[in-house]
Amino acid sequence: MESMRETGLKGLFPSDDGNAEQREHLLGLIGQIVSGVDELKDPESVFLKGTKERGASFYRDLVQSSLIPAQGRPMSEVSGELLKLLHAHPYHTKYFLTNILPMASIPGILGMIAAFMVNGNNLWDVYGPAGAEAEVRVVSMMSKLVGYDADASGGYTTWGGQGAIFTGLRLAIQSFVPEASKNGVPGNLYAFCSEAAHYSLYKSMEATGLGSGNLVKVKTRADSSMDTADLREKMEMVLQNGGVPIYVVATTGTTDAMGIDSLDEVYGTVLSLAEKSGLPRARIHADSALGGFFAFFNDYDFVRNPLSFSAEVSASLQAIRSRMKYLHLADSLCFDFQKLGQTPYSTSLFLVKQAADLKLLDLEPDETPYVGHRGYGQYHTSYTLECSRMGSSISIYSALLAFGTEGYQRLLGQFVEVNEAFRRVLAKEIPEAVIVNPDNPGIITLFRIYEGGRNDFAKELGGRLSRETIDRTNRLNEMLFEILGRDRAEMFFGDTKKHLYVPASDGGRLALYASKLFVISPFTRAGDVESIVSYLKERVQETYAAYRRMTSGGLVNEEVYL
Ligand SMILES: *Cc1c(COP(=O)(O)O)cnc(C)c1O
Repeated sequence: MESMRETGLKGLFPSDDGNAEQREHLLGLIGQIVSGVDELKDPESVFLKGTKERGASFYRDLVQSSLIPAQGRPMSEVSGELLKLLHAHPYHTKYFLTNILPMASIPGILGMIAAFMVNGNNLWDVYGPAGAEAEVRVVSMMSKLVGYDADASGGYTTWGGQGAIFTGLRLAIQSFVPEASKNGVPGNLYAFCSEAAHYSLYKSMEATGLGSGNLVKVKTRADSSMDTADLREKMEMVLQNGGVPIYVVATTGTTDAMGIDSLDEVYGTVLSLAEKSGLPRARIHADSALGGFFAFFNDYDFVRNPLSFSAEVSASLQAIRSRMKYLHLADSLCFDFQKLGQTPYSTSLFLVKQAADLKLLDLEPDETPYVGHRGYGQYHTSYTLECSRMGSSISIYSALLAFGTEGYQRLLGQFVEVNEAFRRVLAKEIPEAVIVNPDNPGIITLFRIYEGGRNDFAKELGGRLSRETIDRTNRLNEMLFEILGRDRAEMFFGDTKKHLYVPASDGGRLALYASKLFVISPFTRAGDVESIVSYLKERVQETYAAYRRMTSGGLVNEEVYL
């Protein structure tokens, strides 16, 4: 294909008249990328083919060798360069078992392409009418799914689950202190989340100027959900000291363990404290970025069971539903479609129960001279933190139409099925790998090994082990992380150093390290679990052997495993 010099600038753009020649040119280039990626695929590997030497000087060399070409290169050559970027890239094959990093589905990708073809700006409906229309539609669809009144609710696409938590905090500040937008944020406002919550709130506290010192971390129960008795105690303490609790983030699906905070309990706690103190109730944001998608089962008929889920899967899904059904109690929430919604980054949807609340963040019309005037209707977004916004709602819309409720139910059901199978086979084949989130059904399994193949988890939870013992077990698990990390081209597991803070017998609270299986690829099936577990078994044995060698100086007693 020709360079820009030969075709003129027009060769770098789609046509303005729909002519066949330019269309074929564009489709050919898209075909080059799609087939180029296909050539790199290997279903038995977690990485695309191709080599990348990411040595110590990798980024330094890139800095030195990068320069804008004086003359543009032919597009086919540029695509060749793009494909080189993808060499050795992680890819979502059946052994991709690490964290919430999904594949972008075809409907998700096509929604993006449709959006790019008109490249609207969702800043304003006149600039991005397609995105605005899709946005209003998907806000309504998801509102109805969680049980919000779609006539009263609102929302918009934004920069991630983190952006949603941030906006929830902005709303809380403005509703308690309307003059804060002008005079700044007073220092006596406090926000709460659990120890297992995402760090987004921590960052938001910093960015709003409240400071992370005003963020109160609430203890979790063994199932990683917020301990609401501790929430009450900590909110009361803040009140006693003249502080004002304004915001509680309830995580409905923690990123590490899939713990689900009980929104009904959080709501009840917040409400009763408000009554007692005479202050307005703190706003509640459900951080449902990851887990909210299980609301697709809110109306599933588990008795008729039309999708024929096994008793095991069905029980898990019902346990999840028993908590997800309270999502509607939250003042705001979020769906990260780039997580379980199967769309590309970044497609996060922020929802508010009362659209009118967004007025709290609105700017005066004369402060937003470019937008909002002569629009088609009530659509204007001067309350978003972004100015220009991509039309990511179009991709979300596409995925919702193509999957439908049943498609999401099938996919999530499959993920849960694989996870259940993994737990079953793991317990049988590697009993020394203790599942440390046993009360969290879903798509994540955390497992932890102990010296001598023991199971000390109950002792850790009960505060019966010393800091040193817990530390030592953490180091043993870190060795397993290293070994799994070394071989991740074959199977890619995740890990966490922040699963549950447990009390040590000699004081203090320590986080537990655990390896993680995260079911996220549509290509992982229950039948793959045997090979996953036998692969793990070898690495666990290798870890014990390496640990024994390391500690054979007599640090650890020798009635060890093997
Ligand atoms: C992923 C995640 C976030 C952050 O979302 P981004 O889209 O990465 O900004 C926040 N909370 C939870 C529970 C998450 O899983």
